[in-house]
Amino acid sequence: MAKKQVPIIEGLFTWPSDKPQLIASRCKKCGTVMFPKTAFCANPDCEKSRENVEVVNLSNKGKLWTWTIQNYAPPAPFRKEPFEPYGIGMIDTEEGLRVLGILTTYDNLKLGMTMEMTTGKLYEDDENEYITWMWKPVA
Ligand SMILES: [Zn+2]
Repeated sequence: MAKKQVPIIEGLFTWPSDKPQLIASRCKKCGTVMFPKTAFCANPDCEKSRENVEVVNLSNKGKLWTWTIQNYAPPAPFRKEPFEPYGIGMIDTEEGLRVLGILTTYDNLKLGMTMEMTTGKLYEDDENEYITWMWKPVA
């Protein structure tokens, strides 16, 4: 029987979804966008009121700012099993955030190229496959 796919943490990205998007917050007063979503505005000059903050889905596209290859298994809870080297990238989203994420490939990457958010398996146990967000190059 196929294992159930579950997100690593609820509320980080839309799930299930044909077009997955990261879930963030936006301050209605100053426009600051925050990921992961928060209860209060992160702008130190802004009013701290829960009513000012709304939940928004980020655009599922961004630009590759920098990247590297993870060549050794990271410590818990950042497990990825079975381990094999993978790319990690920092993506500049259209909202002006810089979001870290695993890359679906590290072949033929170019700084500034367009990346699209997707999802993929981080690890699995006897019952579930644990899914996280990832970034893939747009051909
Ligand atoms: Zn604000």
